[in-house]
Order: sequence, then structure tokens, then C-alpha cells
Amino acid sequence: MNRRSFMAYTGVLSSTLLLGQTEEFNETTSIRKASPVAVALLDKLNTVQDRVGYVSFNTISFDQMLKEATYCNKPLTPYEIGYIETIFYGNPRRYGFYGERTVPRLTVVTPKSSLHYIDKTGHSLLKGAAVEKYATIKKLIGDDLILTSGVRAPVKQLHLFLKKMVCEGGDLRETSASIAPPGFTFHGIGDFDIGKVGYGQFNFTEKFEETDVFKKLYHGGYITIRYTSNNPYGVRYEPWHIKVTPGNETA
Ligand SMILES: [Zn+2]
Repeated sequence: MNRRSFMAYTGVLSSTLLLGQTEEFNETTSIRKASPVAVALLDKLNTVQDRVGYVSFNTISFDQMLKEATYCNKPLTPYEIGYIETIFYGNPRRYGFYGERTVPRLTVVTPKSSLHYIDKTGHSLLKGAAVEKYATIKKLIGDDLILTSGVRAPVKQLHLFLKKMVCEGGDLRETSASIAPPGFTFHGIGDFDIGKVGYGQFNFTEKFEETDVFKKLYHGGYITIRYTSNNPYGVRYEPWHIKVTPGNETA
């Protein structure tokens, strides 16, 4: 998808309309219905994920996703593509997310040769610093450590963002507090999430800090937390998120 179509759609439809808002974003308005276009897109992305499989879906490119959706007789409409482009290229500060952009283009392709699949996890890591960091951590913790999320290309991040957005009734501030908008996640460039085997959903709560896995890694100085509590980026505290790539906030 090129920039021309992006400009065409944003020229016709204001970004607030595209994001399902009927008025300027108002933080006191908490109950909203997710827009029908978000719900329709979620259904199409679910179908593509079913078709290509969970592992491939993590790193599928935008253009490949469009092809797969068409194969499934669920092609994306120009309006839906414009909606995605507005989420991707729009400025998330207007709904309270202050993280930095990590991926410049929606159509970025993640070469298979750059990926290293981590056995039995469903996730891959970028070769180089991420794989090395994971290997160090794995060696220290052993069988108790699991990779819960690795590389996420823009389509995967969009899928997570839309799922959360529909759950939150279209509230973008709430959505982006726990899921970075596509184009703004460090999972796109190397970061990953870890957990304790058998800890299930608790791996994604502050309870994770109570585990030996967290304590060993953190106190041993093996991990650096990217989103500390009260961080200025509008992102919740995520003790399970491992920083690999440097960001401005480390300066
Ligand atoms: Zn993460």
C-alpha cells in the first residue's frame, strides 16, 4: 500500500472519524462502542491468522496479509486499509500514548533469514542482540523460563491493538496503555517478553515480580526494564518486557 492511497483517504475522512470517534477525544468519555470497521478488521485478521498459522502471523508483512485475506474471500476494503494507515501513521499523542515510533513503514518486510525461532514457544527473535540476550537469560534460569512474545511485525501489533480496542469499547487511551499502537512497539525491532513456565496469565501482571525468574534476572542485573512504573510514555509497568534495543528514554 502506498502513501498516495493514505493521503487520499485521510483527505476525505478526518482521522477522528476513521478511528471511530464522533467527537474530539475526551478522556472523561469512557464508554464507547468500538467502530464497526475495527470489528470487521479484527474478523479478517483472525481469518488470516487461522490460515497462515500463529507463528507466521507474528511476522507477516502487510502486503502478504492483504493477499491472504483475498485468498480467504475476505479482502480488505479501501476504507479499511485507510483506517489501518491512519492508526499506523497518525500521531498517538492525541490519545495519550507518548512512546517513540520504532517502525517507519507499515509495509516493512521482516526477512525470514533475520529470524530465529525459539522452540516450543510459537515466537521468534531477531538474530543478533535479541537472540544473544535470550540465550544468556535462558542459561541462567533454565527450564523455568519461557518466551511469551518475540518479534511482532506491524500486522501482528495491529491485531493485538484492535483486539484490545474492541475490548475497551474503542477507548484508545485505555487500549494504548497496555498495547502500543502498531509502528510504536519495540517488539518490532528486538525487544521480547518472558515469563515463568506454568504461570499463565500471571506472567502479564505485576505478580510476575514475585517469581524467582524475575528476581534472579532483575537483581542479577541481567535485564533492564523498558517501561518502569510511572513511566512518561503512557504505558503500564511491564516487568516481563525485556529491553534489547536502545530507545531515547535510556539517554
Ligand atoms: Zn513486551
